[in-house]
Amino acid sequence: MGRSIKTEDIIITPTTTSILAFKVNDYVEEPCVRCGSCILSCPADLQPVSIMNAVKRKDMSALKAFDTKNCIECGLCSYVCTSKINVTDYVKKGKAMIL
Ligand code: SF4
Ligand code: SF4
Repeated sequence: MGRSIKTEDIIITPTTTSILAFKVNDYVEEPCVRCGSCILSCPADLQPVSIMNAVKRKDMSALKAFDTKNCIECGLCSYVCTSKINVTDYVKKGKAMIL
């Protein structure tokens, strides 16, 4: 769980429990191949790919209908994505859009 941050210019607060630093990724995101891996892996029983598409369309009613707010931000949908898409970031954005 946690947020991906692409810069070193961040503020550490007392609530920061850990930081993981990875090497620069040398892969690129590819188009969704509709494999459904993100759906099968989601512990909250959501449809991350559908939420991602709703975010791209700015479809607020779909975001609500897909129970986007129930995402626990575990990161699994990004981890398993066949196309290396950061699906979790889209779902987080969807949560913020319907607050
Ligand atoms: S980050 Fe959210 S949408 Fe993605 S697998 Fe975890 S609970 Fe499901
Ligand atoms: S795991 Fe990735 S490629 Fe597969 S359906 Fe989900 S978003 Fe698309």
